Amino acid sequence: MDPDPERLHEFFGYAMRLRERAFGRRIGLCAIASAKSGCCSEDCSFCAQSMYYDTGAPEFDVVEPGAIAEQAKQAAESGASRFGIVASGFSPESKELDALVAAVRAARETGLSVDVSVGCLDARKIRELKAAGATGVHHNLETGPNFFPSICTTHDYEDDIAAVRTAKQSGVYVCSGGIFGLGERWEDRLELALTLRALDVDSVPINFLMPVPGTPLENQPMLSQEEALRIVALFRFVLPKAHLRIAGGRHAIFPGADRRRLYAAGASGVMVGDYLTRAGAPAAEDAEDLTAMGLEPEKVTVEAA
Ligand code: SF4
Repeated sequence: MDPDPERLHEFFGYAMRLRERAFGRRIGLCAIASAKSGCCSEDCSFCAQSMYYDTGAPEFDVVEPGAIAEQAKQAAESGASRFGIVASGFSPESKELDALVAAVRAARETGLSVDVSVGCLDARKIRELKAAGATGVHHNLETGPNFFPSICTTHDYEDDIAAVRTAKQSGVYVCSGGIFGLGERWEDRLELALTLRALDVDSVPINFLMPVPGTPLENQPMLSQEEALRIVALFRFVLPKAHLRIAGGRHAIFPGADRRRLYAAGASGVMVGDYLTRAGAPAAEDAEDLTAMGLEPEKVTVEAA
């Protein structure tokens, strides 16, 4: 049954008030750089980078630190306060970890808060990246535990839970969320939100599927704006104090000024600039949105590495 539009308006209004209570006028802007792309051993059914699917996504090993530093500089210029270094794969082996450590050191030179999104990390790997200056670890659970086996068969949900738990125990900023529009039910979305709450994560990236040709989900319809907004509001109610950062699919589902509706439904952050395998939009558009809504970019203080 479709919800009554007035009740829905009220629902979004409460979600926005919860966002204001936790963050005031501050909106977290973050940017990412792809440090290693493609050939991933995992079979996540939405992902362009899995080795199981022929998607034409770029394939490269960990890039030189100078290239990461350049992207971090651009992220800082675009107003982002957090910068994520992303690498495909289940977990980095030692040579790859060394290259990622060098990338983190290079990115820290910009003064941004540097996060890593490089697969499942044990406590030792996190210690090494932290010693290089990483302040946060990102690792998505993607969806709820019951739906997860329908989208990934090469590892277990428990592997991802353990990675998030280890990150929390390591004392870093923990960012973990998921992707929506995979064919999951509302129950799966709620289960994901409740799992993230139980793990006490600091930040929750919310991605909306943009179907990738060549993947099993290539013909999956994209979510409507209303359904996407209801997901954001649901997560705001379950996780009132966590940053909800809207990432993949934002521009595809919310063209132009429609993007602003996300803040009015409880979102407290957005990813600016390009996505991993797709172009985003100029950061100036996000700056315009914030000004138009009386919001401002959050500043993050980073201690010297
Ligand atoms: S989502 Fe991550 S783990 Fe899954 S296939 Fe893509 S890069 Fe690999």
